[in-house]
Amino acid sequence: MICRYLFAFMVVTAVTAQNNNSYWQQKVEYRMEIDMDVTSYQYKGKQELKYTNNSPDTLNRVFYHLYFNAFQPGSEMDIRSRTIEDPDRRVKNRISKLKPAEVGFIKPTSLKQDGKSLKYEVVGTVLEVTLNKAILPGESTVFKMNWDAQIPEQIRRSGRNNAEGIELSMAQWYPKLAEYDFEGWHADPYIGREFHGVWGDFDVKITLDANYTIGGTGYLQNPDDIGHGYEAPGSKAKKPKRGKYTWHFIAPNVHDFTWAADTNYIHDTYPGPNGVTLHFFYNNDPKIIENWKNLQPKTAELMDFFNKNIGAYPYKQYSVIQAGDGGMEYAMCTLISGNGKFGGLMGVTSHEMAHSWFQFLLATNELKHEWMDEGFTSYISDEALNAVKKEENPNPHDGSYRGYYYLVKSGKEHPQSTHADRYASNRSYGISAYSKGAVFLAQLEYVIGSDNLKKTLKRYFNDFSFKHPTPNDFIRSAEKVSGFELDWYLTDWTQTTNTIDYAIKSVLMSENKTQVVLERKGLMPMPIDLFVTYEDGSEESFYIPLQMMRGEKPNPYPSLKRVVLKDWAWAFPEYTFEIDNGKKVKNMKVDVSQRMADIDLENNTFEQ
Ligand SMILES: [Zn+2]
Repeated sequence: MICRYLFAFMVVTAVTAQNNNSYWQQKVEYRMEIDMDVTSYQYKGKQELKYTNNSPDTLNRVFYHLYFNAFQPGSEMDIRSRTIEDPDRRVKNRISKLKPAEVGFIKPTSLKQDGKSLKYEVVGTVLEVTLNKAILPGESTVFKMNWDAQIPEQIRRSGRNNAEGIELSMAQWYPKLAEYDFEGWHADPYIGREFHGVWGDFDVKITLDANYTIGGTGYLQNPDDIGHGYEAPGSKAKKPKRGKYTWHFIAPNVHDFTWAADTNYIHDTYPGPNGVTLHFFYNNDPKIIENWKNLQPKTAELMDFFNKNIGAYPYKQYSVIQAGDGGMEYAMCTLISGNGKFGGLMGVTSHEMAHSWFQFLLATNELKHEWMDEGFTSYISDEALNAVKKEENPNPHDGSYRGYYYLVKSGKEHPQSTHADRYASNRSYGISAYSKGAVFLAQLEYVIGSDNLKKTLKRYFNDFSFKHPTPNDFIRSAEKVSGFELDWYLTDWTQTTNTIDYAIKSVLMSENKTQVVLERKGLMPMPIDLFVTYEDGSEESFYIPLQMMRGEKPNPYPSLKRVVLKDWAWAFPEYTFEIDNGKKVKNMKVDVSQRMADIDLENNTFEQ
């Protein structure tokens, strides 16, 4: 009976897995008009949203994010910040103290589907909408919404009057349809972090007082009317008129739209690679101007590195904007703090721009797979900084390894598959997503080899840009490039807190032979590179393939002779081999690259 049940279950699983291979994604087309009142920090919005259901499912409800509602006393973000063991210093109890004129809100005043009014309910940061007419697979519908909004005092990411005096940081500022994908609706409340959006086109008109300069997502459609540094090079900038005027932006094939505005911005442009124009918006403050000028050629070099090592940036514009509260990535732009030292300014620009590839173009659901977002970004940003600053550090990820080891020792590690909001502390989230996530790639280089990792990143970009790739999509890219089986690497590293600990247990030397016994002390499997120096000064490497990987990586040090030994089957805690070349061993070390995140490095070496 049990066998028959199991068989039936396996058949069902096989069919489901097959269905998941036919990829689809929803589509949005937004037209929005905003009229801003900069004295009250309130604005009125109109939104027309054409929504196309490319899923195989009939939809009876839809959900929108109303992110600004998080900035109200008693919100989930407020309570979570006051109950987590290590509150974000930018949030702490600040939301609880906001007065009515300082809170954020987005209040829909009307919502229609294809001309007919809809029933809806605001539940915290989510708008729950019951449809009049179900959206069938392959069909489109048009929603029209009017809303009133108030920009909160800047608490986190978006808001008015940030710590560096930038007036409007407009991220998460509009009613944003939640994503529906192969895992269903993702109407996550806005508690702390991370986003997941629907791919589509944005047409946005912002009406604002004439003395403000706007930077953000999208191509400005009326640059010669607007001026403010957008006018064609060589043409004369129009003087700002009095009163208000309307900025018209179009952003094709993005999943978010962000902007910032200030009356004191300097707006520079700089030619980036492949005809991309880089825009820089920063405070007209003599103390920071030199840093922001020096940043411009470096930003072009960084973009060139990402283009060459992942794939070509597909838009014609990217903007680095002083706004927000540290650094945060958005469509075709970033909002960053801008008053600090040059090294920090370049580091944050590198990290946030790298997000244009990891999370923006490769739009993983960062609430569920935060390590693919922050970790991959940290990895490639550290590689880029190492190259652009010509530091030639053989392991630019050593800081990430240190972070990971600290997390393991703390005993507070969650599996990386934990939802971004559900970690016990901000610290354990941060190290897991950023540091352990970067180590995932740095260590994969050790597992499959440097060339294979480079090709994997390019193949992953080629196959999954403008989509919502999953962890399995990434590891399949690595498998297809390398020919190895790598599911064990993905599952142990990301879905468990298993650790790696290999040891040199004994080295017994007799007249002509040396017998080496290695031990696997940790649960996570790994292939082993072992380096041996002989008493005559010569060196040799030994490679012990991991049996479940079903393959051998190329020799990472071609100038050094490598002996490929028999496979190590994971379940065996010990592995014995002999060196019978007649040479005496002086010392021996497991993984000289230190890319394998072995939690006990003490037992990795043998000295005669
Ligand atoms: Zn990041």
